[in-house]
Amino acid sequence: MIEKIKPFTDWKQGVGRVKMIINGESVEAANGKWLSVENPAHKGTDAGQVPRGGATDVDQAVKAAAEAFVSWKKLPARERGKLLLKIADSIESEQEEFARLYSLETGNAIATQSRGEVMLTADLIRYFGGVAGEIKGEVIPLGEQLFSYSRREPLGVVGGIVPWNAPLALSALKISMAITPGNTLVLKPSVEAPLTAIKLVELCNRALPKGVLNVVTGTGSECGKALIQHPMVSKLSFTGSTEVGRDIMHAASERIIPVSLELGGKSPQIVFPDANDDVTVTNVINGMRFVRQGQSCTAGSRLFLHESIYEAFLEKLVAKLKAFKIGDPLDESTQIGAIVNENQYNKVVAYIAGGLGEVGAKVLCGGLPPKTPPFSEGYYVEPTVFIGVKNEWRIAREEVFGPVLVAIPWKEETDAIRMANDSHYGLAAFIYTHNISKALRTAHEIESGFVQINQGGGIVPGHSYGGFKQSGIGREWSLEGMLEGFTHRKSITVNLAY
Ligand code: NAD
Repeated sequence: MIEKIKPFTDWKQGVGRVKMIINGESVEAANGKWLSVENPAHKGTDAGQVPRGGATDVDQAVKAAAEAFVSWKKLPARERGKLLLKIADSIESEQEEFARLYSLETGNAIATQSRGEVMLTADLIRYFGGVAGEIKGEVIPLGEQLFSYSRREPLGVVGGIVPWNAPLALSALKISMAITPGNTLVLKPSVEAPLTAIKLVELCNRALPKGVLNVVTGTGSECGKALIQHPMVSKLSFTGSTEVGRDIMHAASERIIPVSLELGGKSPQIVFPDANDDVTVTNVINGMRFVRQGQSCTAGSRLFLHESIYEAFLEKLVAKLKAFKIGDPLDESTQIGAIVNENQYNKVVAYIAGGLGEVGAKVLCGGLPPKTPPFSEGYYVEPTVFIGVKNEWRIAREEVFGPVLVAIPWKEETDAIRMANDSHYGLAAFIYTHNISKALRTAHEIESGFVQINQGGGIVPGHSYGGFKQSGIGREWSLEGMLEGFTHRKSITVNLAY
């Protein structure tokens, strides 16, 4: 039997112990150990606890998924799709429960972030449910005597590993991309934010046959490592940091299995002189994901402003950022919540301190976080804008994964493009100008997988999302990505003259 997570009334109690789900059952770890999930808005309190799973649990989950694969892959694709459509409806009907739990464990503001991510989760699953019938092959015209065709076949058991920053939508992504074409999945969420992922797996299991979708919890070095090294896993789909991505690729290379990697980013936002307006300022704020505390791989954290508008644009930007309300994620009036945990908070603070230590660097707003209540009760960092920064400094090159933006002026278009591309990352980019030729010319020059012009929004199901350079390999979020990354293409030829 699968246990439901009880809705909580008071954050002080959290949700208590929440088990993993293996083969349609809620289970503890074989070693009986538990890990705390800290509530980022209230230091020292738990949002819940999850099992500290390891190799034994992963082995059980992979074997259950392998057994379920035998019949799941034979179900017609549109029948699988219909189950996903049903799941999407159920998620919407539980939006509030999901959103509250999401705010509790991640620190994201319920009003600006959590409800939206729940709806994105439903939307993603609905998209893949809808395109399930498009898992088609081709006919190859080899002449009248031969019938040659290809078919798309699932790979087997997929190991899906997700980070803490968008645990619900990214779990939904792994689930739908894996199971729609007939694979089965063992999902491993981050130990920092595993609760909504478990709730999602519980909800999906109400519709799916047992074993098709399993979730194991634990640390990367114990649980994650056991999953990537398991000999019965046929594909690894990983979203997380570039550093861990290397380990995943290495593990995949040992067994020659396919791998998709959605990794880090340090994305540029380029503003041309004709875009010195309020709409662009709002887009830049959205592009930087300030209301997600900057904790987004897509975050446009390097702002390249034309020198003629540099000061005027920054003045408007800072005024808007100072007006945001930061605080308790579950308070309806809060716009910006807390950083996910102590480790990440310390990392962000260290980057800010490092940036302030550079000669000529200055913050226009934010900076080192206040040490007094209410800010000191949780992991709160104010939106921070650095000026006087050189593109080669750490604060401008490394992924801070916090609400920290660096603003750098440029004079010639070629300089803006050169600085934007001078990065080992290549995930996203944002370009702002009313001149469509300039916009497209720049978009074509930028070395990133996802470019937006005159908007700062996020990925929409159907986009083939993924990075250039060290931001990853493979594309997810789309039908094409699913076909390329989660199926084999098999060619079959029949001699009709036989
Ligand atoms: P992380 O790489 O530390 O962890 C990601 C996941 O991998 C977690 O579940 C973790 O437990 C697991 N893990 C860690 N070590 C492992 C190992 N040796 N073997 C197997 N699994 C292991 O990343 P994070 O700190 O959770 O998330 C932030 C990172 O994720 C950022 O770099 C961000 O850019 C990236 N990210 C990328 C995308 C994208 O689509 N490109 C989306 C969201 C986040």
